[in-house]
Amino acid sequence: MAEGQIRIGAISLCFTHIRTPEGQRILASARHQRIRPLCSCAQSSPPLYVRKTGFLSVARMPGTRQLHSSLCPFSKEYLSDLDAHDLLVNESGAPAMRGGLFAGPCALQELWKAAELHIWRSSFKHRSWALIRRRLLAALVDIKTTIASTANERIFIPEPFNDATPESATIALRQFLEGCSMVDTRGYVIAPVKAVYLEQSVPVLVLRHLPRTRILVRELPPPPALHCMAILRVFAFDGKVYGSDVEYLAVTEDSWLPTASGQHALRVLELAAAGANFQIDLPFINEGGACTPLKSTVGQI
Ligand SMILES: [Zn+2]
Repeated sequence: MAEGQIRIGAISLCFTHIRTPEGQRILASARHQRIRPLCSCAQSSPPLYVRKTGFLSVARMPGTRQLHSSLCPFSKEYLSDLDAHDLLVNESGAPAMRGGLFAGPCALQELWKAAELHIWRSSFKHRSWALIRRRLLAALVDIKTTIASTANERIFIPEPFNDATPESATIALRQFLEGCSMVDTRGYVIAPVKAVYLEQSVPVLVLRHLPRTRILVRELPPPPALHCMAILRVFAFDGKVYGSDVEYLAVTEDSWLPTASGQHALRVLELAAAGANFQIDLPFINEGGACTPLKSTVGQI
């Protein structure tokens, strides 16, 4: 059985080729001729359908999850609505599909540095989310204009939650996702983590300032012992939001300085309380495609 392939009549198409011009041509033809693609993961050839969301992709037919092999992306309960291309890209972590700011791991660390959020001066009191958000947005503009980016991506950073208009953040996110799908653009959300829990064995992430949006993710993140920022790619289908490629950055409370451990956070907070000016050299390196924390250093400035 060929895994990661679909069959359309006599043609076999690899999941990873779905978004190539050839793959799109094959799917367009199948759609036109009303040929149902079949998944090659199991003897029973589970049926799929061609879906158009800016580009053509394939999706699982309702009620057919059990027909797929347990190794097949379409057997994943909570990812039923994602197209095979996205599933495979995310499973293999194919870096070629990530671009621009998010070309590699440690995107948040790099963004923090670009926004100079790793620097603390004695004149600072605490930093609010509104200020952090402004600095991140400004840094993103700078980054976009200084790197030669062909990346097709948009970033959503929620405004501070407002009790008077509790639905406004959810509406803004929905509009953002609709905008992304209309122009076939990858959408990312950056926000602090509010809660993580399992719902029928599916990890769910709730972000601060988006408290009414449940984001279904692939894997349970590490327990956020510290305050934690998250950056994730988001997809919305049928009112549900799905997230993938989640990266986290631990930050200190109120000062939002990057930190590697609870002990390190305590030292940083002590320095801030003592009125020191300092910067934190980001304690991470890119190693084999993963973001690895190193012994962090704090330098007086
Ligand atoms: Zn399958």
